[in-house]
Amino acid sequence: MQAEPQAFDRVLSSMCTEPHPAARDAAIRFLATNPGDPATYPAVAALESAAVDTLGEIAGLENPGGYVASGGTEANIQAVRIARERAGRTKRANVVMPESGHFSFQKAADVLGIELRIAPVDDDLRADPAAMAACVDDETALVVGVAGTTEYGRVDPIPELGEIAASADALLHVDAAWGGFLLPFTDHAWNFADAPVDTMAIDPHKMGQAAVPSGGLLAREESLLDALAVDTPYLESTSQATLTGTRSGAGVASAVAAMEALWPDGYRRQHERSQANAEWFAEALLARGYDVVDPELPLVSASVPEPVFYALREEGWRISRTGAGELRVVCMPHVTREMLESFLADLDRLAPRASATVTGDD
Ligand SMILES: *Cc1c(COP(=O)(O)O)cnc(C)c1O
Repeated sequence: MQAEPQAFDRVLSSMCTEPHPAARDAAIRFLATNPGDPATYPAVAALESAAVDTLGEIAGLENPGGYVASGGTEANIQAVRIARERAGRTKRANVVMPESGHFSFQKAADVLGIELRIAPVDDDLRADPAAMAACVDDETALVVGVAGTTEYGRVDPIPELGEIAASADALLHVDAAWGGFLLPFTDHAWNFADAPVDTMAIDPHKMGQAAVPSGGLLAREESLLDALAVDTPYLESTSQATLTGTRSGAGVASAVAAMEALWPDGYRRQHERSQANAEWFAEALLARGYDVVDPELPLVSASVPEPVFYALREEGWRISRTGAGELRVVCMPHVTREMLESFLADLDRLAPRASATVTGDD
């Protein structure tokens, strides 16, 4: 029997979604191409330049450097690598990030042998500039801000973090892996035009509605990528700045197709739909007596007790929890109001029973 992928009709936990139909077609057409070898696969290499140009436009950057990476993890690792090379390998470099930063920075620290300093967040779950500044010293190579945190959708005060980075002569990296396709339609200061951002992670395969794998690394100047370049003896191109060698042409082509179809109006409409769903869902949970973290971006976290959470998983709902144990629902493009209504109906049916199991008063 042929294996089938999961349906999306109960997926509330993922930061990925169904690709836009044009992105799906493009991915299939470019399946057997490798942008890692541009002299052999020039068509997909040209698409990659187009992808970087549009990502730059979305992120407020006129002449962007960068490439289409395997995802936010690779983009973050590469940003740390750029900063470490710039700082010079002789000193023991450190990276300062808020505790809301993504775990990919742990991998970066591990692989690159740098120290990761983690600053507490403020009461509203954003990077706290004073706490960040207290972690910075003259060995700090990189300050990280998150524009759309993975657990709560929070946007850090990027301009303040830029000042902190500048005071230490460190680079500033913004992790907008998830938020990058939502934030252009908000009032937040998050991008290259708002602050002296040096590098950014922005993933087409999340809110960008491209096929997996399609991540984005952007750099204020192409020259920042020079720190990454290694010689490539057997390829016609002479150097390579990517972390992986053979890469997904499907991801590149689908990113271009999705952005051509959706930037900016389609993404704007999607932001409005997702944000309205998140606010409606947050209200509905509040009305049921749960504590809810106010959804600044379309991501809702709420204090649903563990037994209820597992009962909902038993019903087939793909849901996840924050490190602090809250239910976490990401209102991606495939998440409709009807899905959320059906989820709430299950919650209403299961919550009293699951709570009764805990308290024992059956
Ligand atoms: C998803 C995410 C990442 C990791 O991206 P992958 O594409 O899964 O490698 C990094 N940072 C943030 C803020 C994310 O939401």
